[in-house]
Amino acid sequence: MSKGRLIVFSAPSGCGKGTMLEQILKNDGFRCSVSATTRSPRPGDVDGVNYHFISREDFEDRIGKDMFLEYAEYCGNYYGTLLSEVDPYLEKGIDVILEIEVQGAMKIRQKRPDAVFIFIAPPSVSELRRRLNKRGTETQEVIEERISQAAGEIALAEKYDYVIVNDALEDAVDDFFAVMRAEKLKAANSGDIINEVLK
Ligand code: 5GP
Repeated sequence: MSKGRLIVFSAPSGCGKGTMLEQILKNDGFRCSVSATTRSPRPGDVDGVNYHFISREDFEDRIGKDMFLEYAEYCGNYYGTLLSEVDPYLEKGIDVILEIEVQGAMKIRQKRPDAVFIFIAPPSVSELRRRLNKRGTETQEVIEERISQAAGEIALAEKYDYVIVNDALEDAVDDFFAVMRAEKLKAANSGDIINEVLK
């Protein structure tokens, strides 16, 4: 059985990645890693489902124990991918999606060069502001901080393998599966197919 693919998915806050992921995860064979974070849960956030919400002390303890594939500080909080959320699933042939910001994504680029890097962009910064205001879960100050963070992240999109603009959800999800099909057909990933052809 071939191993699963590691898919790194970055999208500034408010790009609709949550709804995109919901659609993607309706398909078998995909799993989204649950990150650990020190940020406080937002209304509707469920511990162990959206994130593992842990204290700064606990997070730093896990850094010391080498339990993270990567971690980063973002808007004053730690966010990190636990190895236990990734490798056991890849071994079982499941594709694991990491929904992480750019600093963490670039660390994975070095550690796991065979991962697929996808950047989800909003149609425009003004649309991003409109979506964040509509969500209504953050103060104006936090929204402005997230927008300036997002603008910096969008400038790094070219470091990814693919960029998907999330204007219409259905089209963005279609683009994601087009990327998955293209990845499957890459010569470097076609060892199993070639062995089958030569049998
Ligand atoms: P939010 O607070 O809106 O849930 O997430 C803020 C940012 O942290 C998002 O860009 C999200 O992709 C990123 N993030 C979530 N989990 C992780 C993680 O495990 N590692 C890193 N590097 N970033 C993460």
